[in-house]
Formats: sequence, structure tokens, C-alpha cells
Amino acid sequence: MAGKGTFVSRVSPVTLTGRNPTGTVMMRTWAWPAGLAAAAVVAGHAGPGVSAVGPLRRRLFPRLAGFGHPDHVALTFDDGPDPASTPGFLDLLAARRVQATFFMLGSMVARSPRLAAEIAEAGHEVAVHGWDHRYTILRGPLDMYQDLARARDAVSAATGQQPRFFRPPYGVLSSGALLAARKLELTPVLWSAWGREWARGATPESVVTTVLAGLGGGGTVLLHDSDCTSPRGASSAALGALPRLLDACAGRGLTVGTLAGHGLAPR
Ligand SMILES: [Zn+2]
Repeated sequence: MAGKGTFVSRVSPVTLTGRNPTGTVMMRTWAWPAGLAAAAVVAGHAGPGVSAVGPLRRRLFPRLAGFGHPDHVALTFDDGPDPASTPGFLDLLAARRVQATFFMLGSMVARSPRLAAEIAEAGHEVAVHGWDHRYTILRGPLDMYQDLARARDAVSAATGQQPRFFRPPYGVLSSGALLAARKLELTPVLWSAWGREWARGATPESVVTTVLAGLGGGGTVLLHDSDCTSPRGASSAALGALPRLLDACAGRGLTVGTLAGHGLAPR
């Protein structure tokens, strides 16, 4: 399993440093476009669709880590829409009258545009997870822009909604990804609590325990509504955990909803 940590770099040209799944340090340097005054954040990552949740990131970039209204929890899903698994989440969320934010892959939307539309029609928020599920740190600025623009346009065309949020694959942000997101008016949002349902042997119980260990008021929860980048069964573990997670939030007096309802709408 890879090392975990959050690395912050703010120099010009920017040097981004992270760790690949084998723990090897990766480094990529690009020049900042003039006037882009944003810190670059690269999170270490440990598996498909995941990234370390670093205390440093939470402290330095609370909005990036998804911290919003203290009496609210944002529920987010990555990697769909997936006909094999997403409908189960939609049914459960409808039964519980909960709305969530779905970070969609453009490549998955292209395969299932009607399902993407159903997500939006059910009142959920749609957001961009990129077209391909690839590390942004390994892609150049133009490639990154084209990927995000293509994904945003696919999500928008399928759902009729204009996405406002972007979550990079593996939670890894590069300078190119930040610049592309800014140009496309997409706000990057990661998460503050995750289920690690992508880990081998994960169960609904392990997902509940893991999420609740990192969750407080104002947090953003990451789960996966598809196994397309995870071991088979990951989304089932997430779905099995969801009722108990919703119960736990209700028991703590926390309202569960979308990022838009979390106070993280772009300023
Ligand atoms: Zn993902």
C-alpha cells in the first residue's frame, strides 16, 4: 500500500510531488500561467479512486477538503454513472429522501447518458470527475483541459445541468488540472471522509466504521457508485453501508445533502 500524505507546493514554476501506488515519488514541473495565484495540492494516494485525507490538507484548504456548513454533511459519489450499480443508490436515496452529488466520468456518461439524466431528474447534483480516470499529474495542461472540457460537456448535454464542481481522479490535483478547472469554472473539491470500499476485503461494516471515524459536521463523504476503477464489490459495500451512515448522521443532528447545499458553491 502506498504511503500517505499531502504535499503542498507553491513555487514558480510549480513543482508537484506525489507518490504513485508503489510509493515512488513522482515529480512534474510546469510553468504557471501569469496571474494564476493558486496553490497546488497533490495528495498521496493508495488505490483506485482514492487519495489520502491529510490533516495538513484539511487545515490549509478546508474548502478543497469539502468543509461546509457545520450542521450539514455533503454526500458524494465517484466514478459513475454505472448501470450495474448506480440504480441501487438512486433507489435508496429516493427512499430516504436524500440528495447527493455524483462526480461522473465522461466516459461513463457516454455509455449511459440516460442514467446520467435520471440522476439529475431525481434532484441530485452532477459534477465532473474527468473523462478518463487517469492521474492528472501525468498529463499536460492542454490534455487536461481537453479532458475536463469534454467531460463537462458530456455531463451537461446528458443531464441539462451545468456542473460546478470537479474532483480529480485519485484526488490528485496538478497545476494543469487547477488551471483547466478554473478556465471551465469548475471548483475543485476533494473530501474529508471516505469509506475505503475500494480496499480488498471491504464490507459494509468496514465502510461504516471508516467513514464515521473521519466524519464530523461540515464534512464531505466520498463513496463510489461504480466498480469501474475499483475491485468488484466496492460499490456494493458502499451501498450496504449507506443506510447506517444516513442513520448515524441523523442521530448526530446532521443533514445530508449535496455540495451545493453544503455552502461550497463557487463564489
Ligand atoms: Zn474515481
